[in-house]
Amino acid sequence: MTTSIDRRHLLRLAGGGALGATALVVADLGAAPAQAAHRIIPPKEWGFAGWQAGGPPALDRSAITHFVIHYHGATGANVNGPQVPRKIDAGHKEDPDSSGILYNFVITQDGKIYGARGYRWKSGATHGANDYSIGVQLHIHGSTAPSSAALASLEWLYRHSHGALGAAHALKITGHNDHRSTSCPGGPLGRWVDGPGQELHREVAAELGDDGGSTPPPFPGADAFVIGRSHEAVRTLDEGLIAKGFANHHDGDGYQAGTTFTRYTRLNVQDFQQAQGWTGADADGYPGPETWRRLVG
Ligand SMILES: [Zn+2]
Repeated sequence: MTTSIDRRHLLRLAGGGALGATALVVADLGAAPAQAAHRIIPPKEWGFAGWQAGGPPALDRSAITHFVIHYHGATGANVNGPQVPRKIDAGHKEDPDSSGILYNFVITQDGKIYGARGYRWKSGATHGANDYSIGVQLHIHGSTAPSSAALASLEWLYRHSHGALGAAHALKITGHNDHRSTSCPGGPLGRWVDGPGQELHREVAAELGDDGGSTPPPFPGADAFVIGRSHEAVRTLDEGLIAKGFANHHDGDGYQAGTTFTRYTRLNVQDFQQAQGWTGADADGYPGPETWRRLVG
């Protein structure tokens, strides 16, 4: 608890510091905290040139469960101003099949938040996770420490996203490298994801009256788990299997969450069921309500 208060005061102090005299106000911890005024700069304000290739697919707000952090990690990082999202957009448009800027938001070291795909269009930034995530880039190199102003804006945006998406559960905060093999979001930002980011997630979960996700989604029915068929619940099941370490069976490329119920899914579920001490039909590899509750709760 103390740690959390300390961190948040530090963020407020840092955010205020960027505004000069505001820091003096927030330094008096007895006073109401004077937050730096955060806002999302809409695409039309930073000179967005419009989508190509038909535009990105619409974002399904109810499907968003993750808030994924990225770095820029290339020449030209650590720059501020509207040229930042413009340049990212131009770079992504070099691929004629790409609609344009892949991120939902870009945050620069001066703490400015640029809206790109926003809450309206699906992210293109996190391969394999775009259906259920918001992608945010901090405009830094992999070895650069994110500024206090940038992190304060990231925290503000994370909190803001829950209201904007109508999220009942706290979004999981992950790095790009939690979804696929990549060096993104780099060392210093990765440490934020693993430390303060997880603390922030717990704070927001508590504020939402969310016990961290231990209320499982309802059992989707046996029809969701048929070999060779796809169902969104299989991804949730897979995430539970992976999180609990039941992922030994796979096609040779590691076991990954996906929507198709495969024979590997079944074998991993069976391992889990047997680990519960179950036998026979209770350990046939097909999840029933109790397997579901124990795996995804
Ligand atoms: Zn990335």
